[in-house]
Formats: sequence, C-alpha cells, structure tokens
Amino acid sequence: MSIARELLLWASRSRALAGALRQRAFVARAVARFMPGEELSSALAAARGFAPLGIGTVLTKRGENVATGAEAEAVRDHYLDVLGQIADERLPAHVSVKLTQLGLDVDRELCERALRTLAERAAASGGFLWVDMEDSRYTDVTLDVFGRVSAAWPSVGVCLQAYLRRTPGDLDALLSRRSPPAIRLVKGAYAEPPAAAFPRKRDVDAAYFTLAQRLLERAAQGAARPVFGTHDMRLVERIRARALALRVPSGGYELHLLYGIREDDQRSLAAAGERVRVLVSYGSAWFAWYMRRLAERPANVWFVVRNLI
Ligand SMILES: Cc1cc2nc3c(=O)[nH]c(=O)nc-3n(C[C@H](O)[C@H](O)[C@H](O)COP(=O)(O)OP(=O)(O)OC[C@H]3O[C@@H](n4cnc5c(N)ncnc54)[C@H](O)[C@@H]3O)c2cc1C
Repeated sequence: MSIARELLLWASRSRALAGALRQRAFVARAVARFMPGEELSSALAAARGFAPLGIGTVLTKRGENVATGAEAEAVRDHYLDVLGQIADERLPAHVSVKLTQLGLDVDRELCERALRTLAERAAASGGFLWVDMEDSRYTDVTLDVFGRVSAAWPSVGVCLQAYLRRTPGDLDALLSRRSPPAIRLVKGAYAEPPAAAFPRKRDVDAAYFTLAQRLLERAAQGAARPVFGTHDMRLVERIRARALALRVPSGGYELHLLYGIREDDQRSLAAAGERVRVLVSYGSAWFAWYMRRLAERPANVWFVVRNLI
C-alpha cells in the first residue's frame, strides 16, 4: 500500500482531524466534487437530474459507527422517509446503508430489526435497499444479518469486496442460495492487513475480474443479479465483452459509479444501453468517506490544495 494511501486511510479514522477539517471552507469546497450537498434535498435533486439521462441513482447518507440506539433509530427513520419520498416521486433511486450506521456496534438485534423494517418498506414501496460492506471486522456479521433479512425480503442486496481473500467463498455461499440476492461487487476501500486482503492492486484487479466472470456466468442463466461498482473502465470493457460472449440478457447486470467520478463514462455507458446508476452521497458526516475517496486516488489531494488557492 502506498504511504499516501496509508496516511489518508489513517486520517479517515481520526475523529480529531474530522472535527478540525470539516469546519474548513476549502475542504467543503473540495468535497463538493463528490457530493451535490449535505441535505437530502440536494441528493433528490441530483437523482431528478440523472433520471432523464436514463441513469438511476443510489442515495446514501454519510455516517458510520453510531454510538447509541437513539442515533440508530434516527437513521432508520430517516431512511424510511427517503424510501417514502422516492416512491412518492417515482424516482428510479435505490438506497444504500451501512450496518454500523443502523447501530451494529451498539446492539446487533436492534440493527437487524432496523434493516428488516427498511427492507419491508422498500419491498412495499417498490424500492430497493443495498447493504454496504465495511471493514473486514464486520464481514461475517454483515453477511449474517443480511442473510436473514434478505431471505424474507428479496428487495435487499449486499456489497462484496474483491480485495478480500475470503470473497470467492462468500460469493459461492450467496450464489448457492435458492434465490441468490443482488450482489454489488467492488474492489474494497478500507485499510486491511495482508492476511485479509491482497496488498497489490494488480491482484485486486485480477480477483475482481475472476469474481465478475463467475457472476456473469450465473447471470447468463438468470441465476444472479450482479452489479459492478467500479470506475475502472478497462475492467468495465472486459466485463461488457464477457457479458456479450456469455449472452447475458439485456438488463442482466448493472454498472454503478460514484457521483462526480468519470461522469462522461456514466453518460456514454447509459447512452450505449447499459444499466447505469450513480451513488449519490449526502449528510454532514462525510469526513471518513471523503478520506477514503482521496485514498483511492491520492492525486485527488490536489483538488483540496487547489481549493486553498
Ligand atoms: C457504487 C459503489 C459502491 C461502493 N460501495 C462500497 C462498499 O460498500 N464498501 C467498500 O469497501 N467500497 C465501496 N466502494 C468503493 C470501492 O471499493 C473502491 O474503493 C472504489 O470504487 C475505487 O475503485 P475502482 O473500482 O473505481 O478502481 P480503481 O482502480 O481504484 O480506479 C480506476 C480509475 O477510476 C478513477 N477513480 C477511482 N476512484 C477515484 C476517486 N476517488 N477519485 C477520482 N477518480 C477515481 C481513476 O481514474 C482510476 O484510475 C464503492 C464504489 C462504488 C462505485
């Protein structure tokens, strides 16, 4: 892992730094590149803007590791409201949540109940709920909670991270279910020990494509609902070519990208007939998430510096 990436991922876990930097206007200006605003209304406005381009969205409020049950319940209620607004407006928008934002560190039962409530609401309103994957301390419990909730509510999908050595086994377990859930495959954004995750990028990229092929083979049989969450256009082209060769039916997979990254590609992929969604973040607790975005591409630090000038 590069020193810059290591430093930025360390910064993402520092509450003191979060407190100090979040107040700085130049940081807020730089963050604006990756999120349309802190309020839900900004995210909904962005979703409305993408819809006519044939691009769906996934809305997510920043924040993780809440410390009390009351905070977790407030997050649950917030997302219930978001699902309601999406349904009222008939927006082509999904919602994505982190289990630690729903109180996983506080009380696992409370977190599972909250996820169940959200899944139920998503199903009732024709919506869809994604469960993000956090660092590897949470992989087992996330898959466990997700497994139980998604068995009852198929309108929930989960993220898997290609950089984790364990992921081929997790993917097989999910695909062996009678009705396999929707799976969003990403490379992985956290600082992980080499025992848990491949330290070299090229190994992560290779693992991603191997997992993607497995998902596409199953999608060709109508037995998987893959989403490829990446901005790696070489990888996207290989996935598209493989999907074509395997005759994956149209709409058999989706491509998800983050707001503000590779916007031209988002549009051209949608125009080429691909199912594309943009993950739109909002909320004031953006610091840790923003540091992970900088760590993915340390050259982004120059955007912060440029906003100083
Ligand atoms: C929809 C979506 C959901 C995600 N959910 C999760 C999750 O639940 N858990 C998790 O651990 N991770 C998640 N991630 C993050 C993911 O793990 C990667 O860290 C991130 O997508 C960067 O990897 P990449 O696949 O884009 O490839 P990379 O090889 O890192 O990047 C490929 C190219 O994309 C561009 N790019 C990538 N990142 C940036 C950036 N930050 N700024 C500017 N350009 C950039 C650059 O041109 C780069 O060369 C998610 C990503 C997406 C797109």
